[in-house]
Amino acid sequence: MNAVVHLRQTFRPVTDWLVPLMNELKTNALASSSAKAEQLARNQFWFRQILRSQRRDKTCLPHFLGLSTSEFHWMAAGKRYRLYDELLHDTEAERERQASDLRQQLLEMRLDEWEELRNLLLGHRANNDDSEVAIASVVAAGCLGGGHLWRDLGLVSRQELNDLLSANFPVLAARNDRDMKWKKFFYKQLCELGGGYVCRAPSCDQCSAYSDCFGPET
Ligand code: SF4
Repeated sequence: MNAVVHLRQTFRPVTDWLVPLMNELKTNALASSSAKAEQLARNQFWFRQILRSQRRDKTCLPHFLGLSTSEFHWMAAGKRYRLYDELLHDTEAERERQASDLRQQLLEMRLDEWEELRNLLLGHRANNDDSEVAIASVVAAGCLGGGHLWRDLGLVSRQELNDLLSANFPVLAARNDRDMKWKKFFYKQLCELGGGYVCRAPSCDQCSAYSDCFGPET
């Protein structure tokens, strides 16, 4: 047997497992990059919708939606966003705007609560794309308003909020299997973690506040 044939036979088993493994890695990488792109596209869509509502004064959110200015500009970088002049990114003007934004000041007064809500969401993020972090900040800021969460975020319906939460925080969203009002549900989670925000009874079924926590959010 010549040396070349011998070498081929020796290394054939390696190629037999290496090629399928490389193909599998390639397929996984493609699937992961497509999940990332899809998540970013969906989140930019929701971000623009929330932003549009905020500019029409239809949310409880501050000017930068509960994001740092750099996060805000990163999320706002979608091409269809050019309707708004914030892309000019005037740092000084932005600092002044934040300082005079009453809703931003209210958020800062409740920063601990906002952080707890944000951490709850981030602890359950889908991990497809970094835009989930920005969405967690915006949703946590929306929780500080006085209305239903979908309205305080300026979304078109509760169903749209369900979709946003399921896409970004799937395990947490699935845990709300009794269709609890979303804000109450999040605060209940914090309660169970020892935060003590909502619950006045050991179980929902025995609680006098049941109708505040369950029922339609219209
Ligand atoms: S119904 Fe009562 S126990 Fe259940 S989440 Fe609401 S406040 Fe808490």
